[in-house]
Amino acid sequence: MAYLVLARKWRPRKFSELVGQDHVVRALINALDRDQLHHAYLFTGTRGVGKTTIARIFAKALNCEQGVASTPCGECTSCQEIDEGRFIDLIEVDAASNRKVEETRELLDNVPYSPARGRYKVYLIDEIHMLSKHSFNALLKTLEEPPPHVKFLLATTEPQKLPITVISRCLQFNLKRLPVALIEERLKLIAKEEKIQAETSGLRLLAEAADGSMRDALSLMDQVIAFGDDDITEADTRLMLGTIPREQVLKLLYLLANKDGPGLLAHIAGMDELAPDYRGVLDELLGLLKTLALAQVVPEAAAGAEGIAELTGLIAPEDVQLFYDIGVKGRVSVEQLPDPRAAFEMLMVRMLVFSPAAGTEPGDGQIMPVGDSSTIGSAGKTSAHKESAGPEKGGLAHEEWAALVVKLPISGATRQLAANCELERREEGAVWLRLAPEAASMLTDQLKKRLRKGLADYFEHDLRLHIETGETRSETLAGRKGREAIERQRAAERSIASDPNIQAMQDAFGASVQDGSVQPLD
Ligand SMILES: [Zn+2]
Repeated sequence: MAYLVLARKWRPRKFSELVGQDHVVRALINALDRDQLHHAYLFTGTRGVGKTTIARIFAKALNCEQGVASTPCGECTSCQEIDEGRFIDLIEVDAASNRKVEETRELLDNVPYSPARGRYKVYLIDEIHMLSKHSFNALLKTLEEPPPHVKFLLATTEPQKLPITVISRCLQFNLKRLPVALIEERLKLIAKEEKIQAETSGLRLLAEAADGSMRDALSLMDQVIAFGDDDITEADTRLMLGTIPREQVLKLLYLLANKDGPGLLAHIAGMDELAPDYRGVLDELLGLLKTLALAQVVPEAAAGAEGIAELTGLIAPEDVQLFYDIGVKGRVSVEQLPDPRAAFEMLMVRMLVFSPAAGTEPGDGQIMPVGDSSTIGSAGKTSAHKESAGPEKGGLAHEEWAALVVKLPISGATRQLAANCELERREEGAVWLRLAPEAASMLTDQLKKRLRKGLADYFEHDLRLHIETGETRSETLAGRKGREAIERQRAAERSIASDPNIQAMQDAFGASVQDGSVQPLD
């Protein structure tokens, strides 16, 4: 037997085999079983979600020799001929290639004649929105006075282009894009039935790439089977689709957070060896930025998204918004320019140079905006991770520890621990920290391990970490933040106390400022 492509072989032939369109299927089954048939149906939805498949099953249900029912037998001549696409009373028209008014008229001229073999003459017109105005008028006349032996099944991806007069004469069903999990489940089943060795992660990639269309998923599956010599692995699927592993895309964000221009370009060069689909990479990046933005507002949003929680403190929320904006606006260039890699690199560089650079000095290995930084829209806003210049990676002065802490890929209690430390000394491969005595209870093996990992990741080599409790010589980051908060509070109270309006009220009404009710604006 000749090899049949999966999309055709696994095309559903019964309503019960259809997945993901339960709302439509149930309505059609009820209509058939209760004999409440309309004369025209309009199926809308994006490509590959099953519009014409449903229409063909419906045509079988209408013409099965066993009688009109929601479960056509699939065995009789009519059923078989419809399945094979050669049933004389099922007239399939692709409006995209049959637009001329004469042809449509010719087609509709035949409407009054009884069906040759079947119970109903079924017109299945796909991409109906492509018909010309004249053709629509001809169709409309027929829809206004349809003969009882005719059914119209119309399908379109763009219902908004249909004349309202046509839509109003049809029973409309909107088919949904299929969720990834559903497509994946179906691919798994088919792989099993076809005895194809398939890695679940590979099937998941195919399901994601199919963008809601079962037909696309199956044709991609065909391609990867041919590509991968009859089995489906994640590696082959990635190669074929040009997708880049998520952690590699995540690394782009870490490099952006560290303002590491050379690292960024080197990383893109590394990715390029996998011949990626840069639009897909950009979409993944935008997805990560979206999760990151959510996680900065609602920390729980980072649950299940590996690496995101650590990033929340590394990139300021306004930078995340800016990156997202640049990415969305640049999508077209990545899609349309002849060199997508160059377009993608431009986007990354734009994110790098347009993020606020207040307080940073152009230094070794940093790409900086050209010219006066005050001309850049959002420059001047300060955010946690750029309070001070980036530390020189070789030597680390005491005061630079505070600046480093906010840049490390650590979060929560680990960051608190680091913020309560000062740098004792640093040697090749080892860091000594002193922990303020009031924070001694924070020192646990687990947090120490995480801090060590954060440092190792940041400096890109493994190192030993020693933490001793002892009186700190200088102020720790946490200490400074605490002191600053107290100072802000006092300043706020002073400014309220000296406010002439407040004083006037105190004088006139004997009013007093309630203790603890004053809060600094920041
Ligand atoms: Zn039948």
